[in-house]
Amino acid sequence: MIDIKIELTKNPKQKPDESNLGFGKIFTDHMFVMDYSKEKGWYDAKIVPFENLSLHPAATVFHYGAEIFEGLKAYRTKNNEVQLFRPMENMRRLNRSAERLCLPTIPEEDALHILKTFVSIEKDWTPHSEGTSLYLRPFLFGCDPFLGVHSVNTAKYVIIASPVGSYYKEGINPVTIMIETEDVRAVRGGTGEAKCGGNYAASTRAGEKAEKKGYSQVLWLDGVERKYIEEVGAMNVMFKVNGEIVTPKLTGSILPGITRKSCIEVLRDKGYTVNERLFSIDELMEAIEKGTLEEAWGCGTAAVVSPIGHFDINGKIYEINGGKIGEVTQDLYDTLTGIQWGKIEDKYNWICKID
Ligand SMILES: *Cc1c(COP(=O)(O)O)cnc(C)c1O
Repeated sequence: MIDIKIELTKNPKQKPDESNLGFGKIFTDHMFVMDYSKEKGWYDAKIVPFENLSLHPAATVFHYGAEIFEGLKAYRTKNNEVQLFRPMENMRRLNRSAERLCLPTIPEEDALHILKTFVSIEKDWTPHSEGTSLYLRPFLFGCDPFLGVHSVNTAKYVIIASPVGSYYKEGINPVTIMIETEDVRAVRGGTGEAKCGGNYAASTRAGEKAEKKGYSQVLWLDGVERKYIEEVGAMNVMFKVNGEIVTPKLTGSILPGITRKSCIEVLRDKGYTVNERLFSIDELMEAIEKGTLEEAWGCGTAAVVSPIGHFDINGKIYEINGGKIGEVTQDLYDTLTGIQWGKIEDKYNWICKID
C-alpha cells in the first residue's frame, strides 16, 4: 500500500457553528496532496495543513482544462461512527474520468486507502446535526509548466474536505425545472461521462439563465437531436410513468451517477421495473398530458433525490404529482439516507466505516 506522510497542523481551527454550514464554504484543518511525473509515477503522498497551492502560471490546468474531480460524503451515525457510502465507486469513476482526459490514474486500492486515511485524520470535522455531513472533494489536474498542447507529464492529486449543512433544511421542496433548448451540457464522444470541471464551466450559462427566470435547474437534452432527456442540473434524472421507472440510458454524454446506480438497485430490489432507455421530451409531454407521469426527480450525492414539482416546456407550466414529492421519491430518499446515516440496515454492503 502507498506510504502517506502525515504532518498535523499546529494551529487547529475552531469547529464551525453547525446550524449555518452551507455548502463548501468552510474547510477542515488538513488536505491530502500527491504528485505525479511520467518518470516517477505517483510520489510524495502527504497529508499536510490546509494551505494554498502554488502552481506555475503555465500549468496545463489553467490553459487546457485538464482537471477532473469527485464528490462524496462522510456521514456520522448516531453511535458516533463515521462512514462513507460506496467510496470505491467514486475512486473507479475518478480513474475513468482520468483516462478520458489523458490524466494519470491511481491504483484503485491506493486511491481508497488514501481517501480513508484522510477521512480518518479529519473525522472530528464530520458534523453531528441531522442531515449534515463532511463533503469530500478529491481532484486531479495537469501541471506541466509549458504551453504546448499535449498529454501531461506531471499532475497533482488533492483531497479537501468541507463540513456541509443539510440539503433539506426547510424540508424537501419540489423544484421547478426549465427545459434548456439552446445550450447543451455534453455530446456523445465528448466529456459528458467524465466528471470534469470543464463540463461545469460549459453548463453555467444555462443554469444562470434558468435562475434569473426563477427556476431551480435546467433539464438538459441531447446535443444532436435536442430531443432526448439527459440530466437535470448536475444530477441524473428519473421518471415514474404509468408504474414504470425510466431513466436515460448512459449513452456517453451522461454522467454515471453513483446515486443513480444506487436508486436503480434499490428500486429493482423493491420490485419496480426500472428501464434505462432513451426518453424524449415528446414522451415526457405526452405522459404529462395523459396524466401518466406520476413522479419525476433528480438524483445525486448532494441532494440524494430532488423531487421535480413543475416543468416549463415552451413557456407552459406543467405540474407533477400536485407539485408534491411522490411516494417512490420519498421511499428512495428514506432508504438511501437511512443507509448513509446508519439508521437502517445496510443489506447491500455499501457502507465503508472509518477507523
Ligand atoms: C456528480 C454528478 C452527478 C451525480 O453523481 P453522484 O455520483 O450520484 O453524485 C450527476 N450529474 C453530473 C453532471 C455530475 O457531475
